[in-house]
Amino acid sequence: MKTQDFVALEKKYLAPNYNPLDVVIESGEGVWVTDVEGKRYMDFLAAYSALNQGYCHPRIKKAMLEQVEKVTLTSRAFRNDKLPLLAEKLCNLLGYEMMLPMNSGAEAVETALKAARKWGYIHKKIPEGKANLIAMSNNFHGRTITIYRDGFGPFTDGFTVIPYGDTAALEKAITPNTVAVLMEPIQGEAGIIIPPEGTLKKVREICDRNHILMIADEIQSGLGRTGRMLACEWENVKPDMVCLGKALSGGFYPVSAVVGSAEVMSVFKPGEHGSTFGGNPMAAAVALAALEVLIEEKLVERAEELGRVAMDKLASLASNPLVKEVRGRGLWIGIELKPEAGGARKYCMKLMEKGVLAKDTHHHTIRLAPPLVISREDLLLGLDKVLEVLNP
Ligand SMILES: *Cc1c(COP(=O)(O)O)cnc(C)c1O
Repeated sequence: MKTQDFVALEKKYLAPNYNPLDVVIESGEGVWVTDVEGKRYMDFLAAYSALNQGYCHPRIKKAMLEQVEKVTLTSRAFRNDKLPLLAEKLCNLLGYEMMLPMNSGAEAVETALKAARKWGYIHKKIPEGKANLIAMSNNFHGRTITIYRDGFGPFTDGFTVIPYGDTAALEKAITPNTVAVLMEPIQGEAGIIIPPEGTLKKVREICDRNHILMIADEIQSGLGRTGRMLACEWENVKPDMVCLGKALSGGFYPVSAVVGSAEVMSVFKPGEHGSTFGGNPMAAAVALAALEVLIEEKLVERAEELGRVAMDKLASLASNPLVKEVRGRGLWIGIELKPEAGGARKYCMKLMEKGVLAKDTHHHTIRLAPPLVISREDLLLGLDKVLEVLNP
């Protein structure tokens, strides 16, 4: 079967909730994928940072195969011999006391929201049903009915939305019933938007002063992408809860988690939250290996160093007539095009022709987020292609 045959099948049988590029991937290794026609591409999206460790990392693959031979799912009606090891590793790595495992990022966010509300009822004595959460506009937290609000109402009550990073609006929005503020430390889907220096510190300070929880959604920004284990570390800020997903899976098997203090995480009583698959031994074995790869291969340091290499290489875009702004942190770079460039997608299609896969985000921004295992040579090669398509 050829590319167009798969595209036709997909268009006929799959709900149109995505608009993918017409590349049909058959295999992947490191930063490289091969499509069904045998053409090779370098991947500059890394499954929205779920593939920070690269495609089919041999060490994670080995952990997964070993676990498949033993036991894959126990449910948490029973205990398994992998989940406690993952919990210990993740908590120690990030400096938190407890974790709660789920599967998708959307579920991790849901977990944090439920924990925050319950914490408010227990520790702030907020009247039942009155807990309020503050979220920020254009943040991406998954697509549950609580979060995704464009045409799918009626919506979940109890949220106040303020502009991203607007700490004055945050102070104003706080009421005695406020339990938490939820934010991305750097906005991913919105186009790699980095808030002004000091924003996270200020949010932390406002949360402390008002006795409310700071929840960071680090599902895309976390686990090395920005050149820090967590993006909040750029401002030495420690949120009360952190949502993780994507790269926690090493790209193998969905794993997400929330980490937090014992005070916050122990608000749950048995039965109040959970998931049949959350914390299964296969997920835990995969996540353990995914974390070990991040640490042992120094992927966090690598992201910082190669991020600098990439920004230097892209410096010439400052005078490019199509480009409004290039911004980045670590190996997470957004090239925002001017409206007259006619949208980022057509440049992503041209990039694909040249063998580099990247995706437009927020219409006008090309997001560059290669797997963190990328070599300097491959990175420079890919960026050459980016410069070629933007320099006609
Ligand atoms: C991807 C993402 C999510 C949702 O994760 P899923 O696994 O797709 O449900 C939530 N928050 C952020 C910041 C993300 O990038």
